[in-house]
Amino acid sequence: MGHVIQVSDVVKTYPLGAGEFVAINHLSLDVDDGEFVAVVGRSGSGKTTLLNLLAGIDRPTSGTVRVAGADLGSLSESGLAAWRGSNVGLVFQFFQLLPTLTVVENVMLPMDFAKTIPPGQRRDRAQHLLERVGVGDQADKLPATLSGGQQQRAAIARALANDPPILLADEPTGNLDSTTAEAVLALFADLSADGRTIVVVT
Ligand code: ADP
Ligand code: MG
Repeated sequence: MGHVIQVSDVVKTYPLGAGEFVAINHLSLDVDDGEFVAVVGRSGSGKTTLLNLLAGIDRPTSGTVRVAGADLGSLSESGLAAWRGSNVGLVFQFFQLLPTLTVVENVMLPMDFAKTIPPGQRRDRAQHLLERVGVGDQADKLPATLSGGQQQRAAIARALANDPPILLADEPTGNLDSTTAEAVLALFADLSADGRTIVVVT
């Protein structure tokens, strides 16, 4: 199997006063196509920094990051945005659904940006994805009226909007009770069985 993610000798430092703070210190990591990886570490150990590098949201200080066939260091900001839109789905601890859009509109939004799904198919696809993750009946509500677990399911549907080969999740169960957290992790396992590559930070 090919490595869908290849992190080679990556260093990431942040400026700190007169010097610099080393958040990632010579990390190499290969993830196989279809693998479900959990990245575990205490607070401040660099997990979010790593996910931001994998998503092309941030760039390494040195080393290379290859994801889904692209050397992220060689892409411009607009190239990265386009690449991200079709290759990576992101899930966050606090869901980050847009509060003024309905749940189904939140799921349609990445489709409107990436423009790979024809406009006439976007609403049906969004509804189908919401059903896939178990919140099809919440489609026309505003996010704030859903429970935390339902909001995270909706956020996972949004991450699947453009059918990305890779899902990256940053503490997706950090804001959920333990039963709901288990259900959300089971959903990730289910999506992994589809052949998607998943990296979850916990
Ligand atoms: P985790 O997600 O594992 O809690 P982070 O990747 O968020 O850790 O942060 C790793 C370390 O880098 C922390 O010590 C944090 O304070 C530091 N850090 C993260 N982002 C920045 C930044 N933009 N500027 C300076 N330091 C940062
Ligand atoms: Mg973090």
